[in-house]
Amino acid sequence: MKKRLILIIIVFMLINITSCNNKQQHNNTNTKISKSDFMLNTYIIITLFDTEDETLFEPIFNNIKELENILSVHVATSDLYKLRENAGKKYTKVSDETMEVMKKSIKYSEFSEGLFDVTLGPLIELWGIGTTKEKVPKQEEIKETLLLIDYKKININEEKKEIMLEKEGMFIDFGAIAKGYIADKTAEKIKELGIKSAIINLGGNVLLLGSRPDNSDFKIGIQDPKEARGGYLGTVKASDLSIVTSGDYERYFEKDGQRYHHIINPFTGFPSDNNLKSVSIITSSSFDSDALSTTILLLGLEKGLTKVNSLENVEAIFVTKDNKIYLTEGIRDKFELTNKEYKIAD
Ligand code: AMP
Ligand code: MG
Repeated sequence: MKKRLILIIIVFMLINITSCNNKQQHNNTNTKISKSDFMLNTYIIITLFDTEDETLFEPIFNNIKELENILSVHVATSDLYKLRENAGKKYTKVSDETMEVMKKSIKYSEFSEGLFDVTLGPLIELWGIGTTKEKVPKQEEIKETLLLIDYKKININEEKKEIMLEKEGMFIDFGAIAKGYIADKTAEKIKELGIKSAIINLGGNVLLLGSRPDNSDFKIGIQDPKEARGGYLGTVKASDLSIVTSGDYERYFEKDGQRYHHIINPFTGFPSDNNLKSVSIITSSSFDSDALSTTILLLGLEKGLTKVNSLENVEAIFVTKDNKIYLTEGIRDKFELTNKEYKIAD
């Protein structure tokens, strides 16, 4: 959690730096206000440009809370909670929001041939990474839990807006996708309130609404996955885009010299283990960026690059375990490397 806070502070500082620079030149157009809070199990910061109206934050944060109450498995009144209770027994009526996130999740399960899987809930609970119960489970426990993981066992009745998980014990975890969805919905809310320029940062899941009031790009820090340093490895200049990073540094514990992080391979039951330390996905929808960043991290560099290149208007920044940075074509002139420990691969 500390690491996430550091990341947010860095991004925040960076935004401040770029804002201050411009303030002297564009005094009238550069007013901005920010509010942060702990929600969605992370630190969130919303920055609104070209306004001084602090009352705008109330509807924005209320909206985030409402969405969290629908999409979190830990909230007793949520759709996911009910789906868990009714698993293997009966269909549950769900909200439009749950249906939308579920359908997108299944799309990414198919896209990743099962590596991305929101039925991973029981396995995530078993590992307990980021909670007080974190442990390396016994092989037998993993084997048994894996029997509950299968996105093909999510039954959807679209007409009736109902969902049922086929087996008792199954449950959904939207941890890899909900923040992206909520970021997009937050952008809609902010636009409705008449704001054209904003930065939505949900624990490192960043969405840039519009551009800076003077029409220049925002500059966003990409975190250095070596958590001990806490800094960023480079910056990206962008407007009207979302930048979402998944990495092995976000939530993890170490045992016997081995790092166990929070992104789990549903085939092995163990944290994803390939040549990547982190992946940042840059695309217009945060919903897609979030699902994709987790998916591509699981795929590894080679397959991940092929997949990203097969998609229109999706760019990526890959950071490998040997400190190389691989960039897709469309991001090369927007990315600036600031940490010399890393090298940009050709
Ligand atoms: P992110 O930070 O967006 O990459 O999401 C990581 C979170 O997604 C984890 O903390 C888990 O809650 C969940 N998760 C872990 N592994 C997977 C997976 N293979 N498919 C879908 N969700 C996952
Ligand atoms: Mg994700």
